[in-house]
Amino acid sequence: MRFDIITIFPEIFRGVFEFGIIRRAIEAGLIEIAVNDLRNYTDGRHRQVDDRPFGGGAGMVMKPEPLFRAAEGLTEGEIEPAIVLLSPQGRVFDQSIALDYASRPHVVLICGRYEGVDERVVEHLVTDEVSIGDYILSGGEIPAMVFVDAVTRLIPGALGDAESAEQESFTTGLLDYPHYTRPAEFRGMSAPEVLTNGNHAEIERWRREKAIEKTLKRRPDLIRAASLSKSQGIAIQKAGDESENET
Ligand code: SAM
Repeated sequence: MRFDIITIFPEIFRGVFEFGIIRRAIEAGLIEIAVNDLRNYTDGRHRQVDDRPFGGGAGMVMKPEPLFRAAEGLTEGEIEPAIVLLSPQGRVFDQSIALDYASRPHVVLICGRYEGVDERVVEHLVTDEVSIGDYILSGGEIPAMVFVDAVTRLIPGALGDAESAEQESFTTGLLDYPHYTRPAEFRGMSAPEVLTNGNHAEIERWRREKAIEKTLKRRPDLIRAASLSKSQGIAIQKAGDESENET
């Protein structure tokens, strides 16, 4: 899969994809990431990418011509291009959106700056608008990094067995279970005994219960939205009954 990032600050991406899982995915040929300087798609000596807003008001707006030229050039010949604008006004990014993009061969990511992009880019160029949450950042570069990282983890082969995506929060419809490592005893705090006794069925049961408990407590909305297996449903009902009995 290829990611093409369009930005006015390509240097921001220096180093960020050179570590861990993303680096391994690049080395294994699973992904390719190109960072494209929007100024290379401008006319004129000043390489202007922004201008004052029509109608007045604060800030600058990203001009449409360089963005159209860049995104159309990068997707030339594609029948169904994926051109994503990172925007606080987009649909909120989550694991299922990441999973959808993980099966695409090519995604172009447009990083906005200033007050945002000319609305004609939204209406006639991009195929999706994605927000990474209900807050305003200074630019789309950090959201683009988030997008690339989350999508890459879901590309088959990107995670080793030890890092399987299947167990992670959101993939199962539940938050992840708690993790512990050595030492078993630290400053009087013990790791749960069940994890050290080698009984895999018990460990499995304990993890499922803890994942359900945590999700019920912190993110009950996930449980409502998730399509859970029958055994998960029974376990949730049990956990719910138990917490009602406690009160
Ligand atoms: N005036 C815009 C508004 O109120 O919706 C905010 C513009 S913001 C300062 C500049 C750029 O940062 C946006 O065009 C977008 O690319 C990016 N950005 C800011 N917050 C974001 C978020 N939560 N998710 C995705 N992109 C974001």
